[in-house]
Amino acid sequence: MFNYIRLDGEFPVIVSEKRAVRPHLTDKKKVKSCPFCPGNEKNTPPPVLERKRPDGSWYIRVFPNVFPFVRPDNAEAYGYHEVVVETDKHDTPLHALPSGHIAEVIEVWGEREYHMYQDPNIQYVSIFKNHGRDAGASIPHAHSQIAGITFIPPRIEYRLRKYPPSPSIHVFSGEFWSVVVPMNPRYAYEVRIVPRFPVYHVYELNYDQRLELARILKVLLQRVTTVVDAYNIAVFTSPRDGMIPLHFEIYPRKNKHAGFELETGAYVVPVAPETAAKFYSAEEVFKNFV
Ligand SMILES: [Zn+2]
Repeated sequence: MFNYIRLDGEFPVIVSEKRAVRPHLTDKKKVKSCPFCPGNEKNTPPPVLERKRPDGSWYIRVFPNVFPFVRPDNAEAYGYHEVVVETDKHDTPLHALPSGHIAEVIEVWGEREYHMYQDPNIQYVSIFKNHGRDAGASIPHAHSQIAGITFIPPRIEYRLRKYPPSPSIHVFSGEFWSVVVPMNPRYAYEVRIVPRFPVYHVYELNYDQRLELARILKVLLQRVTTVVDAYNIAVFTSPRDGMIPLHFEIYPRKNKHAGFELETGAYVVPVAPETAAKFYSAEEVFKNFV
């Protein structure tokens, strides 16, 4: 099956035919067949990182993706593609986990980001999460993905030249992070978490910075899931060469991109950023945030 990268066109393309044969687990009750559930570890590659309880059971588990779009043994699509199973509980989404647990997931992202950059071929480490079928998740069990790739994608190049990438509306500021709504969203209720201190990689975060980030993520995702079932999280880190402030974008998958968007790269958004900012700054959202 074909698996290669083309960088000579309008945008980078990773051809990955094996991705098409992924199993899609849709029934939430199929715990027995879920490869991410405890007891089914034999159905995944050996872990590269595990967080365990004193009794030896794991609660976060990282391993190479069984259906990678890049891989270290393919020179034509070189890279690393890993899965982070965020909890051992099949039915608990990331935003329902305790903030301390979410902070550990963030710490794990950073550890794998750091590890991938030890390979001098890796130019960018992409960390992302798909939640829900409409966001591209093929397995409902909470997980995120990390991909170390050999090129710098166009949006990362853009942010190297221009940061922040757009004007935004301020929603909330904690000690370390602010929540803003971008004025040029591609999705309804799109929201961004930006740092209030100099930081460029997930692995640079300390405990307090991770914990506040986790608490903000949890509040925002809980709010997002009152209007949509599916969302993506994108973690913008710095490439090997160059610096971009570490920031996070949440894309609630309410509106679908169609012909106009695919043709033009311009986006029609059904919810104004001004409306989205009100949605997040509604008193109850951050009132319990201490
Ligand atoms: Zn599961």
